[in-house]
Amino acid sequence: MKLTDKRVEEIVTDAIGDDVIKILRFLKGKRDVSEFKISSKLKMDIQEVRNVLYRMHNINLVSYKRKKDNKKGWYISYWTFNKSRVKELLKKMNTEKLERFRERLHVESSNLNSFFMCPKTCTRMDFHNATAYSFRCPECGNLMQQQDNTKTISFLKEKIREIEAVA
Ligand SMILES: [Zn+2]
Repeated sequence: MKLTDKRVEEIVTDAIGDDVIKILRFLKGKRDVSEFKISSKLKMDIQEVRNVLYRMHNINLVSYKRKKDNKKGWYISYWTFNKSRVKELLKKMNTEKLERFRERLHVESSNLNSFFMCPKTCTRMDFHNATAYSFRCPECGNLMQQQDNTKTISFLKEKIREIEAVA
């Protein structure tokens, strides 16, 4: 599986937010880029740059070297984007999604057609909880209605199949 630049950006955004895109694009294809260079080229505050880089570093998307600047006497970090880590990240995210969807599928399947939902969609709960509220929505007081959840179940099954197909 080859990841296009666009796909890489989607995966990274999905994992840690879309404010990383500017820096990600800037680092692409370069090595050991000074954090001050990133800050000046992208016209971003150095703290903001570091914040993004640390978040990327937390999931191993970037690595860095620290070197002492002999003239100024302080340390500067030089950053490199690890594109090869994106596949591992994608795998990890898919595994987590799969777990979540399987868990939800289990809950939905074991409460077949016995979910109760407020007609204004404020709340949705299983039979046990709905009984505790005498089938009244705790948010707005409307009578909750029994819901056919077969569509939710097929949706979840479809999602699971989708992820399994690329995993
Ligand atoms: Zn309600």
